[in-house]
Amino acid sequence: MIKRDTFTVIAGPCAVEEDTFLQIVDFLKDCGVLYIRGNLFKPRTHPESFQGLGEAGISLLHEVHTSGLKIVSEAMTEKQADTLKAHVDVIQVGARNMYNYPLLTYLSNTNRPVLLKRAPSATLEEFLGSAAYLKDTPVILCERGIRTFNRETRNTLDLPTALLARDKSDFPVIADPSHGTGRADLVAPMALAAAAAGLDGVMLEVHIEPKRSRSDPMQALNFPSFEEFLQKLDRVLSALGKDMG
Ligand code: PEP
Ligand code: MN
Repeated sequence: MIKRDTFTVIAGPCAVEEDTFLQIVDFLKDCGVLYIRGNLFKPRTHPESFQGLGEAGISLLHEVHTSGLKIVSEAMTEKQADTLKAHVDVIQVGARNMYNYPLLTYLSNTNRPVLLKRAPSATLEEFLGSAAYLKDTPVILCERGIRTFNRETRNTLDLPTALLARDKSDFPVIADPSHGTGRADLVAPMALAAAAAGLDGVMLEVHIEPKRSRSDPMQALNFPSFEEFLQKLDRVLSALGKDMG
């Protein structure tokens, strides 16, 4: 379980892709990562963009799940949650659905922990209000960047508010510097900052060949950068007396 007294790294591609997913998972497993991003249903800004493998990708999730790894996967609808439930450990509610109260109410009763991402315009009160709809299931909060006037970054990773969310609730709170910055060069420094600040984990996009990724190619770490990040993370966590969970 993702909890407060350890530091959890959730990693994997933006979306599960048929030809690369298992190679990425093998690499992450060798690195000691336990929680895999395994998204089959993608909320995309444009309907023409790759929408994810959908149900066709279930067998890939099943293979990874039965190998002992844990999967975090997004559901945008109740039907998607039902499809995913047997094959994943954590259901993700993406930033676009933070305000989808009927979905949150439904997920509260699906007997799976929910990773709730902050909407890019949500106040702390709104974020915690949405979490309160999940009263019957464990919740992990995720700060994934808010919309500001910045043009150089995709979003502005709001670590101070993530710390306040941690202060004002009992939930573990993690950061997603991939969507929070939109730039591979800023992902590791911001993930280390999240660890140093006392958050409970990070979610990172990793791809065997980022430029080939069918979604979010600019923000995925390649394998060498991810390994380098883990070495630095180890030093930060040792200084804090924390383990990687
Ligand atoms: C994701 O993590 O796959 C995602 C779509 O992120 P967000 O909902 O934060 O945009
Ligand atoms: Mn993405």
